[in-house]
Amino acid sequence: MTDSGNDWLRRDLGAGWSMLDSGYNRPGHTAIYICVDDGKALVYDAAHTASAERVVAALAERGVAPDAVELVVVSHAHLDHSGGCGALLKLLPHAKAMVHPDIIEHLAEPARLIEGARQIYGGDFDRLYGEIAPTPRDRIVAFEEAVKLGGRELALFNTPGHTFAHLCLHDPQAGVLLAGDVFGAHLPHWNGTMVVPAAPTQFAPREWKASVDAIMARAPERILLAHFGVLDSDLEGKAQQLRDEIDHFVAIAREAKEQGGDRDFIADRVMAWWEPKFKQAGAAVDRDEVGVELLLTVKGLALWLEKHLETYAP
Ligand SMILES: [Zn+2]
Repeated sequence: MTDSGNDWLRRDLGAGWSMLDSGYNRPGHTAIYICVDDGKALVYDAAHTASAERVVAALAERGVAPDAVELVVVSHAHLDHSGGCGALLKLLPHAKAMVHPDIIEHLAEPARLIEGARQIYGGDFDRLYGEIAPTPRDRIVAFEEAVKLGGRELALFNTPGHTFAHLCLHDPQAGVLLAGDVFGAHLPHWNGTMVVPAAPTQFAPREWKASVDAIMARAPERILLAHFGVLDSDLEGKAQQLRDEIDHFVAIAREAKEQGGDRDFIADRVMAWWEPKFKQAGAAVDRDEVGVELLLTVKGLALWLEKHLETYAP
């Protein structure tokens, strides 16, 4: 691992890939990935507005000029992945944003995303996100399943579950699969513990498990997570943990519905499921530490049980 001398992390992952810490929320929370091949570059995820300068600095460290970036692939519309897209494209004159077609309008007119995130984050919104620039519509393209970058061919595929319009990226030659938020969250100081970020408003358990299967079917050697970093061992074991946790969240939602449980009820049961995992990994993680993930998951499950539990068939 080559962590550069400055106060934020850039890491060369080999095979043309590198990661950087976007600076969103706190160190080690949200990653952005860069691929360089034959002088051309691709960026996966745009995090928040303030991360745009970091991307340009990280490219410069690899000797890549801003005009060599051809694509910024945005995994999904949540603002910790898409919020910086408009700002980043201002700095990358030749780049297009490549997204799932269903979120093109959200990036071009981010008012609805901002409104939704303000409802979730309240007074923290401005600290977390700052100003959010729209992405010009004529610089956004719908994703293609095969994307050429320099001498390599990359695959993009839709992986619903966390949101419907979520994209993963597979580089078969490098054995690398970029999973956005679909393969769980796994922060560096959690000692390998993974959690399922069942965020509002599109948690879809059956689709999510199918997306985990679709990722595993590609037999990646390494899975790169937005939150945060690289998984390179026991990937099938980790996939099974995700499927189990998704099923358990459905069970919690069902219990809340049957017993008239409110959001505190859901939060207590999610923590009762997570706490032993953290303990077993020797990670000092309490309710505050996992606050953002807990907040999002409780809201996501509460919404899902109101709208979709009745008709859910596993
Ligand atoms: Zn997300």
